[in-house]
Amino acid sequence: MSLTENPVHQDILQQSRGDNNRLLQRAYETRELVTNAMPSHIWIEPTNRCNARCPLCPTGNGESVRPKSMLPLDTFKSIVDEVYPYTESMNLWNIGEPFLNQELFGMIAYASQHKMATRVSTNGFVFYDQSNIERLVDSGLTDLVVSLDGTTADKKRIKNGWFRLEIGW
Ligand code: SF4
Repeated sequence: MSLTENPVHQDILQQSRGDNNRLLQRAYETRELVTNAMPSHIWIEPTNRCNARCPLCPTGNGESVRPKSMLPLDTFKSIVDEVYPYTESMNLWNIGEPFLNQELFGMIAYASQHKMATRVSTNGFVFYDQSNIERLVDSGLTDLVVSLDGTTADKKRIKNGWFRLEIGW
């Protein structure tokens, strides 16, 4: 049974996101351990692959044993179809570089069409291709985070001298 088919949540799905948020707020204020409210924010990992080698990161340093994979666009859409009645926003990254998933622009656009705010964090390699900047603007992305470790090139993290190129933006 999917989350939205669960009878416990049917009444909630009939409510607006505002009503759901009020339930969440009340649960927070009264320290309820159990609530019928649904998540107003979710976190989705488009991929756990990365093209950098940050020593602090289980993907970058090789400690992660999870199989490498890409989230298919169809799977992403099915998630959005299920959660958009009550979920207002999502983060689209976890332990991986999200723009390695070629479907990311389509994911952002689909979420935007369902009036969900989107936030992506990237190591910035995607902007070597100027056309990606325009695609990103057109996608409807709400927030963009560009993550840098420091102001000097770090051979452990950066392959092929990326950082020296990136800092010249
Ligand atoms: S860029 Fe991000 S995901 Fe990639 S290795 Fe560094 S911290 Fe991990």
